[in-house]
Amino acid sequence: MFLTITTTGTPERPATDLGYLLHKHPDKAQAFSTSYGTAHVLYPEAEAGRCTAALLLEVDAVALVRRGKGKGRGGAPDAALAQYVNDRPYAASSLLAVALSSVFSSAMKGVCHAKPELPGQVRPLRVEVPALPARGGPDLVRKLFAPLGWTVTAEPVPLDSAFPAWGDSRYVRLVLESDALTLAEALRHLYVLLPVLDDAKHYWVAPDEVDKLLRVGEGWLPGHPEQRLITSRYLSRRWALTRQATERLELVRLAETDDSEVEEIDNAVEAETEAEEKPTPLAVQRREAIVTALRQSGAARVLDLGCGQGQLVQTLLKDPAFTEIVGVDVSMRALTIASRRLKLDRMGERQASRVQLFQGSLAYTDARLKGYDAAVLSEVVEHLDLPRLPALEYAVFGSARPRTVLVTTPNVEYNVRWESLPAGHVRHGDHRFEWTRAEFRAWAEAVAERHGYGVAFEPVGPDDPEVGPPTQMAVFTLTTPKEAKAA
Ligand code: SAH
Repeated sequence: MFLTITTTGTPERPATDLGYLLHKHPDKAQAFSTSYGTAHVLYPEAEAGRCTAALLLEVDAVALVRRGKGKGRGGAPDAALAQYVNDRPYAASSLLAVALSSVFSSAMKGVCHAKPELPGQVRPLRVEVPALPARGGPDLVRKLFAPLGWTVTAEPVPLDSAFPAWGDSRYVRLVLESDALTLAEALRHLYVLLPVLDDAKHYWVAPDEVDKLLRVGEGWLPGHPEQRLITSRYLSRRWALTRQATERLELVRLAETDDSEVEEIDNAVEAETEAEEKPTPLAVQRREAIVTALRQSGAARVLDLGCGQGQLVQTLLKDPAFTEIVGVDVSMRALTIASRRLKLDRMGERQASRVQLFQGSLAYTDARLKGYDAAVLSEVVEHLDLPRLPALEYAVFGSARPRTVLVTTPNVEYNVRWESLPAGHVRHGDHRFEWTRAEFRAWAEAVAERHGYGVAFEPVGPDDPEVGPPTQMAVFTLTTPKEAKAA
């Protein structure tokens, strides 16, 4: 595995500064042992006018296999291992990326104690990787690097140059050139994008991979047109992690957007909802039904579980009967928008003391949810996979145990009445299921029975004689205090 970095220079800004930047002296060939083999750094040329550093990784196939086995516990992709043992010694890949980050870690961070002014300077750079496995081909290589300011040459490597008829291999010869980047930026691009092109990560993805990706991607990954592909491939298509990273990148973007833009998003969402649900938006009717039911229950301290972008919290804040309102959601993006909508940072102290937003998942019991009068789950249960519902049930009815619980969910029977909804489709792309009235009843009654609650059902929206209302609401009321139930 082989990669070269070349820069050109002038007597005032000699190319050999590359040695300082990389913390590796141009006169010496050095070897470093890494977990996958030996990494050599050498300089095929080192003049003031032009200097090239080469990183050569000699993969130790035995160490790789041993490492792979060790990581095998917990379901590591052992089947993919054979492939590494085949092409890893020759092809640049995620292993090279790891070597890059361990051998040039200071350079990647942009640290140079000897000449602190150097890392911040852009300079002419040329990176060449003679054999880069590129799933997605030369096209994808260009799509990944060009938006970052690189001029990209990606030539397919023939499978066998003696037999051109065999066609191309999945490797490309990659040359990247730019006059507009710092060396640290270049290394960070390579560190993320080499494994993305390889698309077969060699080690098990750990949760801190997300942090690493965000750190190394700072300044270029948010806003990259292929951000989604990069994130998902980098994290080996592990959706939960990808989603987390995407949300956090979105947060970075949101942090850089101003409030007027959030209002625009809001207005667009409202406009969309209204267009769908003329004349009186169902979402508004739902909130009215919830507020009415909460008032009837006499609740003062209310949880909005799966609060989304905070519309209900906002409505509840307007009523002084609700002294404490807590919005909980698993999505940081939703919470960020909610906090902007509520203008939490500009709220007077009294108002602010009534409201709280925090991130949490309803699939886990959470001590923070105990001690409230009521909990609302408005259009939330259908966003969980059915097998996760018992966990939510326990978290809310078994552990948090508020006196009143309101659950709303779409009535799938009503879908035939939505003009714009094709037959057999759910109302929202993220709905994991939608229930008939009978199904909802059966679930709610079983939950009530298991946890010592009584339950009543209320329609929300026009109650169609044939198919029922568009939204169904269950109002649970605690009948058996915990002590009694335990006894
Ligand atoms: N209650 C709001 C939002 C409904 S959309 C309303 O009525 O308009 C569903 C919300 O549930 C989303 O914001 C989603 O992020 C959240 N959600 C989905 N799964 C969750 C979980 N396991 N824990 C907490 N929130 C979840």
